[in-house]
Amino acid sequence: MCKYCFETEYYELKTELDFEKFSKVFDSKIEKTIQFVKKENSDYRMVDIYICKYCKQLWWLSDTDNHWRGYFLKEENAKNHLKGNLNDLRSWGCVFLVIVLLIAFIKSFF
Ligand SMILES: [Zn+2]
Repeated sequence: MCKYCFETEYYELKTELDFEKFSKVFDSKIEKTIQFVKKENSDYRMVDIYICKYCKQLWWLSDTDNHWRGYFLKEENAKNHLKGNLNDLRSWGCVFLVIVLLIAFIKSFF
């Protein structure tokens, strides 16, 4: 990360306002110090990948849509962030399964 990069990483672009703040900084840097590289499909979601012209840091941008909270992160952190989200989903899936089995088990007594 260098002085031409973004100073802040956004794990969640929660509100319109977050996004506006981010867009302002983004617009001031894009094509000057930060360059668009490509779109990529990561975990069923499109991310825009950008690179810093100076230090070659890769940045991932995921747009907000409906329930999904977008993010803007360094590549390595974006990957970890996605992994974390997936793990959350998996553990909630387990809890759900246990509850369903428990209900089925209780019901079998009546
Ligand atoms: Zn940089």
